[in-house]
Amino acid sequence: MEIRVEKIRKEFDLYPALHDVSLDIKSGELIALLGPSGSGKTTLLRLIAGLEQPTQGRIFFGNEDASYKSVQERNVGFVFQHYALFRHMTVAENVAFGLTVRPKAQRPPKAEIRRRALELLDMVQLSGLEKRFPNQLSGGQRQRVALARAMAIEPRVLLLDEPFGALDAKVRKELRRWLREFHDRTGHTTVFVTHDQEEALELADRVVVMSQGKIEQVGSSDDVYDRPNSPFVFSFIGESANLPVTVEGGAVFFHGAPTGLSAQRDGAARLFFRPQDVSLAQEGPCFTGPVTSSRRLAGTRIAEVELGSSDQPCHVEIEVPLDAAASNGSVLSFRPTRWKLFY
Ligand code: ATP
Repeated sequence: MEIRVEKIRKEFDLYPALHDVSLDIKSGELIALLGPSGSGKTTLLRLIAGLEQPTQGRIFFGNEDASYKSVQERNVGFVFQHYALFRHMTVAENVAFGLTVRPKAQRPPKAEIRRRALELLDMVQLSGLEKRFPNQLSGGQRQRVALARAMAIEPRVLLLDEPFGALDAKVRKELRRWLREFHDRTGHTTVFVTHDQEEALELADRVVVMSQGKIEQVGSSDDVYDRPNSPFVFSFIGESANLPVTVEGGAVFFHGAPTGLSAQRDGAARLFFRPQDVSLAQEGPCFTGPVTSSRRLAGTRIAEVELGSSDQPCHVEIEVPLDAAASNGSVLSFRPTRWKLFY
């Protein structure tokens, strides 16, 4: 099911939680809404679900204007961070719940409901656990039951709000891979909210980066990581460093000194680069300064280098080989190999 979010504004007591948000989701896509706390991810997900109504703007499911339709009319499956399973029901009963509460005319026969519940449990790889109660399952298993339950109503779209947020790091990683496989098998249009960039980059076909109620960038993981289109996206996704520079006559200056880098447009700007995108240049380095601290990562080292003048120092972190002379006080010269200016 395609979903089109068109110029949505959402106010809570006049406070705008979303401004002018537009997004096209393709049928079968796995989309991550990624952003810091309060950026509006959950609000956007709830608007798509029909749990909130927009102050302005419209939401289409295919060609159907769903803006003011109820959750049931939209036929969406929802999974929340905290497993909202019914404690007094078995796993199979939980999965079947959405079907058993249907009006009699639309309710499948009992045997059919049971068959569907078992089939779904098989799909989420929990066959054999149908008679257990939620408190007899691990956190990861409970979230898979929640997903099976959301799927039972044959939703047109699956909406997941931090589905793995309450689980420990190892289980999260396993479930992440599992969800990607599950999605590839079932092909449901899926939108999930996360504030974990690793989760978004690994899982999603496209990542929607949000900040302060707006969409900053929509793109593949490669787009948002390799080609961030704003200082916010550059700093929010992955590690980055940035320095204040000026461009004059096409040459980039830092603290009045030429860096050897050139740019098309003159003016004051910030130069952004990733710590790993630097070379320790022997010839024609751009930046030189003393190492103020360093720490070892698995196969490499991160050095913090002080640049600029001592009264207005700028600190940047760069990645250097383990054999580089990067102890405190030693002087490093480097050149960013990939960088971007924001004016
Ligand atoms: P988090 O990662 O913390 O869940 P989020 O990106 O999902 O954050 P939202 O929950 O969508 O952010 O909230 C966006 C803004 O809207 C926040 O400033 C929040 O305080 C506000 N907000 C959300 N729901 C309501 C509500 N029911 N009433 C008033 N303000 C709300």
